[in-house]
Amino acid sequence: MPGQVIRVRRRERLGWLERSYLPMLGKGLAVTARHFFRNLRGFATGRRRDFVVQFPEERVEHPQAFRGMPVLVALDDGAPRCVACGLCEFACPTDCIEIVSGELPDDPIERFPERFDIDLARCMFCGLCEESCPEEAIVMSPAVETAGFDRASMRYSKEQLLVPAQMLEDRLAFLRREYER
Ligand code: SF4
Ligand code: SF4
Repeated sequence: MPGQVIRVRRRERLGWLERSYLPMLGKGLAVTARHFFRNLRGFATGRRRDFVVQFPEERVEHPQAFRGMPVLVALDDGAPRCVACGLCEFACPTDCIEIVSGELPDDPIERFPERFDIDLARCMFCGLCEESCPEEAIVMSPAVETAGFDRASMRYSKEQLLVPAQMLEDRLAFLRREYER
């Protein structure tokens, strides 16, 4: 049976009311007013106190799915779990990962990252490096304080990126659940 062609009529011209932006303006104001009065009621009744977080003394607890800066998972001996396969470097849409692989003297097959740099000034926290890694060696951490005074200081080396696996257990558990690994 041949497929049925459905013609969709596009409304390319806006009416005078839409061109005046008044309905959208009204909707925006209604949303703002709703939040204002809801927060005001919560404040007056004492049921809501979480209006302002006194950062950096207070921190927001991020959910496991939150993607902060990418970090490298360190094994118990402090070495990276990464085997320098280069998949994350290939997957990164902003080309901000740079890996130089090295060979272990007593193992002709295994490789390790001699250098592993991430330019966090270019990273957009998309998580594709984490998704493409077959070794759970690079994961998105909850860290977001990555500001620097110049671009050079935003280039994080392997030593700066390594985080003990115990500190990333929540995220690793989330990944295994999410990707059914
Ligand atoms: S989070 Fe995205 S942009 Fe950042 S290093 Fe990973 S793949 Fe690249
Ligand atoms: S972090 Fe993962 S994907 Fe990237 S080079 Fe290492 S093992 Fe490969």
